[in-house]
Amino acid sequence: MRDNKIIVWFRNDLRIEDNEALFRAAEKTARVVPVYCFDTRQFANTALDFPKTDAHRTRFLIESVRNLQEMLRAHNSDLIVRLGKPEKVIPNLVQIIGAKAVYASKAYTYEELQVEKELSTNLWRIGAETQFFDTATLLHPDDIPFPIHKLPDVFSKFRKQVEKKMTVRPLFPIPKNLKPPKIQPVDLPTLDSFSLDTPHADPRSVLPFIGGETQAKKRLQDYIWNQDLLKNYKETRNALVGADYSSKFSPWLANGCLSPRMIWQQVKKYEQERTENESTYWLIFELLWRDYFKYYAQKYGNKIFFLEGVRENTEIPEMYDDLRKFKKWINSETGIPFIDANMKEIKYTGFMSNRGRQNVASYLVKDLKINWTWGAMYFESLLLDYDVESNWGNWAYIAGVGNDPRENRYFNIIKQAHTYDPEGLYVKQWLPELEKIPPASVHEPYNLNEQELQEKYGIQLGRQYPRPLVQLPKSVKSKNK
Ligand SMILES: Cc1cc2nc3c(=O)[nH]c(=O)nc-3n(C[C@H](O)[C@H](O)[C@H](O)COP(=O)(O)OP(=O)(O)OC[C@H]3O[C@@H](n4cnc5c(N)ncnc54)[C@H](O)[C@@H]3O)c2cc1C
Repeated sequence: MRDNKIIVWFRNDLRIEDNEALFRAAEKTARVVPVYCFDTRQFANTALDFPKTDAHRTRFLIESVRNLQEMLRAHNSDLIVRLGKPEKVIPNLVQIIGAKAVYASKAYTYEELQVEKELSTNLWRIGAETQFFDTATLLHPDDIPFPIHKLPDVFSKFRKQVEKKMTVRPLFPIPKNLKPPKIQPVDLPTLDSFSLDTPHADPRSVLPFIGGETQAKKRLQDYIWNQDLLKNYKETRNALVGADYSSKFSPWLANGCLSPRMIWQQVKKYEQERTENESTYWLIFELLWRDYFKYYAQKYGNKIFFLEGVRENTEIPEMYDDLRKFKKWINSETGIPFIDANMKEIKYTGFMSNRGRQNVASYLVKDLKINWTWGAMYFESLLLDYDVESNWGNWAYIAGVGNDPRENRYFNIIKQAHTYDPEGLYVKQWLPELEKIPPASVHEPYNLNEQELQEKYGIQLGRQYPRPLVQLPKSVKSKNK
């Protein structure tokens, strides 16, 4: 018999606080049935022969789902976990338990919208209603000062407009009236369920990154309050080594273990109780970039994934499908230490700094001239903080086919390496074979005399460390520092 049960389908919103879908469902009924479905398509192999979601990311996701289940249990509820296609699995559950509606967070990108559409149709056929809520952004889409189709194509125009009057809605509290859903529990999947090996926990990882709302809140508390790191964020954010140079909120934000409004609330409190300065402003500024990419994805739909991007009738930069060079990039064999070190970090830990991401992306697109969508696909597979809009948006931006199209986003890799890793500590952390080379030469070992390189530093190019895959331009006019 159909009663007033509502299924809350969790997606990239793996939290119970500030979750509008959960809150609204609980407003209507105590008989809320929380569900998470691992979408098996997300674990298939890509055309480039690596998994769409690799082991580090999957590990973090499973931990986040497990923590959500624990949080719901601690609040007198539970989480039903399934594997399959949500648009099939959820209507099936609706019928089994006799629910009248499904509530969920809204997605903005192509594959996810296809799932939403099919789910809504399948539910409509069996007489159940669907409702989607915007839970991912700092600013609710109804509170930005233009309709999505009029979103400025230049970020700073967007930012200046929204900063004139920022309306950030209050957090939705954790519902208090939940009742346990009566349904047979099923064990959570393991990495093995997706044919993935458990990844080795690399001690060089910037943080041990454990998924879930509990750990997300701990990091928030730790970064802002216990360690008081926020006050220097603007000065430290471009560094490369360690836990503290930036917030590291991104993996939890991407999985929705943390909402941007939770961060906003703490930053505002910090500004009142401790310090308000350029750093506190800058963390919010970065969250506006994150919002911007979500609106940009809504404006341009499927085009954000195209090689030519969202630009129409403009020349696109030359880019090739060169698998040999692409694999060298992936496998840290470019012969440019700054690139190879960053590519090792992402492979072994699932994380890379923003500075690193900008450089490896620019190198792939502008120096190797490789199809930028391949780089975006590789990041999608590995990044713990993979966020469809931020990832594809940032890649397109660097490739020059996204927003702010007139900017020249060439990064002079060697100059960047000397600026942001002056002692070569970052590079040596990931490429210990270069340990003995002095800081002045470590970013360009190929410029040293071959005999000196071998005798003094034990490196024979092409053996212990590769020769450069391509020559980098000697001097480059770059807009980017
Ligand atoms: C090629 C490329 C791909 C990227 N892919 C992703 C991705 O898949 N997921 C992702 O969250 N970020 C992505 N970024 C943006 C940025 O690198 C990361 O958000 C940041 O490094 C995460 O570390 P943090 O949390 O310590 O950042 P902080 O510097 O502490 O910033 C705080 C938060 O602001 C947001 N933010 C910061 N910079 C950006 C930015 N450029 N674009 C959008 N949001 C930003 C993030 O949510 C971040 O957690 C990408 C950047 C590039 C250049």
